[in-house]
Amino acid sequence: MKYTPVIGLEVHVELKTKSKMFCGCSASYFGEKPNTHTCPVCLGLPGALPVANKTAIEWCILIALSLNCTINEFSKFDRKNYFYPDLSKGYQISQYDLPFGENGYITLSNGKRIRIRRVHMEEDTGKLSHFIKNEKSSGTDASKKGFSLIDFNRSGVPLVEIVTEADFDNATDVKEYLERLQQIVRYLSVSDADMDKGEMRLEPNISLRLGDKQTDYLEDTDLPKYKVEVKNINSFKFVEKAIHFEVKRQVELLENGQTPAQETRGWNEDKQKTFSQRSKEDAQDYRYFPEPDIPPIVHTKSEISKLSSRVPELPDKKQSRFENEYGLTPYDAEILTREKPLSDFFEETVGLQSIKGTHTPTGIDPKTIANVIINKKIDPSDITPQQLTAQIVSSKQTVAVDVNDLQKMIDEVIKENTKAVEEYKSGKETVIMFLLGQTMKKIGKKVDTTLVKNTLIKSLKK
Ligand code: ZN
Ligand code: MN
Repeated sequence: MKYTPVIGLEVHVELKTKSKMFCGCSASYFGEKPNTHTCPVCLGLPGALPVANKTAIEWCILIALSLNCTINEFSKFDRKNYFYPDLSKGYQISQYDLPFGENGYITLSNGKRIRIRRVHMEEDTGKLSHFIKNEKSSGTDASKKGFSLIDFNRSGVPLVEIVTEADFDNATDVKEYLERLQQIVRYLSVSDADMDKGEMRLEPNISLRLGDKQTDYLEDTDLPKYKVEVKNINSFKFVEKAIHFEVKRQVELLENGQTPAQETRGWNEDKQKTFSQRSKEDAQDYRYFPEPDIPPIVHTKSEISKLSSRVPELPDKKQSRFENEYGLTPYDAEILTREKPLSDFFEETVGLQSIKGTHTPTGIDPKTIANVIINKKIDPSDITPQQLTAQIVSSKQTVAVDVNDLQKMIDEVIKENTKAVEEYKSGKETVIMFLLGQTMKKIGKKVDTTLVKNTLIKSLKK
């Protein structure tokens, strides 16, 4: 390809703290009656004083640590000034030059490291709902003209923003990065990162440069002179589609000798297109300045290392440990470590079998447990490790069968199913499963299938 995509990502993740970022209002706003979780602080009334949520800051740092970031010992909040109806203060409290975390990375399965520029803490805005014009409406004047409503329940909900360098050159890597990021915040139990609820929102920025893919990172001076940002996408699939669409659109413009405009675009899922929203602001347009109402935040080295010790074993490490410790295939280990509750369930079930691991009082090895969990799509909220163990044990238990009785029953089955027997003898070997089924039915007890099958085959050869 003549052009190579240059893609960076901004992701916003809502934290599931009890209270909001700078006031005591409940942060769980989903499905609540509009404007019931509000106070002077999150409504942005003049003179109201914000107080930073300590838990939210700790969780932001846990995310940053999990993404291999350096944590700034001295950090502060800043005001990002812009006007929009969902932002009643006229500024968002965010972080500018001293975010909590910087210079991290996520490693993809192909070995590529996506560099993370920064992880910072900010507050969510209110939520606008637009009602389009309805000429036929018999209701109020407002519904005839079309109108917008605003709900401030979301205003001030803690938001962590994770910004990468422009290290992606394809949509598949973007998707993998996003899945890993989602997995990590879920492992940390700091966010459910449910896309449908807007708890994780994605903003890819896309441009194209002349030339082939390269394995090294791009220097800042090699980056294209323009950047198109697609805002607030709420599904991994849509991000992929938006990237594909943008690449195609920008190639056409460049081929016509034009430079794509530096702008913010939206994604229209119905039309499967991005559309222009506004020309993109520069950082200087926001007139960032330190938030005067919140003192700077200092974390000592020992406080940071205490926080590090709270980071659980993350999916990557857990997966390779499952492979080494339990002899699982990479495929099985990957499935079992996708979500922490399932990986915990697996390990608890394994732990029941013996103290040390493989050879066990029940004789169930970790591989069998892994297979059962995966094949039966076990949901750890439906069953306990004890119940699963009992199920596996009973499915393995068979009763002894008298050899003479067995032979008698097999002879009967052969007599009663002459057609199938002929088919088998003429070479259609799959018929054996039918005859085996008939025999098992006759036995009516859970017996050793291999023994029955072997006896059956022997009898058919007579
Ligand atoms: Zn409030
Ligand atoms: Mn942001």
